[in-house]
Amino acid sequence: MGLPKIRLSKGRRDRRRSHLALSPLTLVPCPQCHKPRRPHHVCPSCGQYAGREVVKTD
Ligand SMILES: [Zn+2]
Repeated sequence: MGLPKIRLSKGRRDRRRSHLALSPLTLVPCPQCHKPRRPHHVCPSCGQYAGREVVKTD
């Protein structure tokens, strides 16, 4: 395992980690069943995408 030659200061470590935060996922209402779904994804509740059923759901 490699070992760092020079220890990073807390400031440099924290500045690197300033880009690591996750953003909350976007939800849009499904045009078919009006339940929230992620944009550009198949609706998990009705299985529709671009106006047609692509996945069978119960
Ligand atoms: Zn739907």
